[in-house]
Amino acid sequence: MECFICSTESNEVPSAGDYKQLACPVCGEYRISGTAISLFNEKNWKFNVEEARRWLASQQGGGTIPLINSERAASLI
Ligand SMILES: [Zn+2]
Repeated sequence: MECFICSTESNEVPSAGDYKQLACPVCGEYRISGTAISLFNEKNWKFNVEEARRWLASQQGGGTIPLINSERAASLI
């Protein structure tokens, strides 16, 4: 599926839970909550690609996969 941030074709990593996990070749691996996805669809939000990647980069590398929840998403559009 397409990356939520930059629309690059990405692998969806199977996950259990109310989120999708994606591995984008450009943005890296992240999770996005079901609520955030609904908001994006309902309100036609688009990520600020630069901001979103910067935030992801600051979260990646610590061994955890960053989760973009609805609150975080609202700050990255
Ligand atoms: Zn991406």
